[in-house]
Amino acid sequence: MPELPEVETIKRELEKTLVGKKITEVSVYNPKVIREPAVDKFRKGLTGVTIKGILRKAKVLILELSNGKALVIHLKMTGQLVYPGDGKKARVSFHLSNGKTLDFNDQRLFAELRLLDDWRSLKFIQRLGPEPAALSKEQFKEMLDKKKTKIKPLLMDQAFISGVGNLYAAEVLFRARINPFRSAASLSDKEKELLLKEIKDTLREAIKHRGSSIDQYVQLTGEPGGYAKYHKVYGRQGKACLVCKTIIKRITQAGRGTYFCPKCQK
Ligand SMILES: [Zn+2]
Repeated sequence: MPELPEVETIKRELEKTLVGKKITEVSVYNPKVIREPAVDKFRKGLTGVTIKGILRKAKVLILELSNGKALVIHLKMTGQLVYPGDGKKARVSFHLSNGKTLDFNDQRLFAELRLLDDWRSLKFIQRLGPEPAALSKEQFKEMLDKKKTKIKPLLMDQAFISGVGNLYAAEVLFRARINPFRSAASLSDKEKELLLKEIKDTLREAIKHRGSSIDQYVQLTGEPGGYAKYHKVYGRQGKACLVCKTIIKRITQAGRGTYFCPKCQK
């Protein structure tokens, strides 16, 4: 699933290419991805409006429109935005005033598109925890102190912190040498500081390389992101740890594949 770096990459590309453009027509090839309103209203509410701005909240994209509404896009597992699109895999195509098309693809149809009068009222948005880049050491320490849950599922909890999912949780815990099965409250102050630093550094590096293309994520151009080759632990089960040569393990934790080095990560 695209996480903060992937969605941020798409956001920056949308900002460069789509802001100021007008949507002239919307083709809906599979209405299942449209959660609200009804397809007719969705199409009507988007036709003839200009894209004014692009926001990202955690893993969600928000297109601010000239009619005061917002198109909220949650890519989930296999959602893709491609520009310029060719319509071949599109579930929804947004035709623009420059004659080009923004395609919304979604092989598995888990994505969610919403056209809303007020995106801030979405429950999911209201529940979001802080963005990692905005956190101070002191805030992060305090947030962890109260938590008895395991550190990895906690990092993936969007109400705790915004934008980290399964992939980057594994990477940051490896880099901070923290075992994913530790309870959050058991981390020392030094570990907490290091963990926050690694979260910020890892996300920044991943954005620099335009995200990780595992599964279906692509940049707006349709090209894969370049960060997967820099992964230190995710997807490396059975291979030697880059630090100590111990074999990297993959264990299911809270229903998700969890990669770690049993020697480095204490
Ligand atoms: Zn190791």
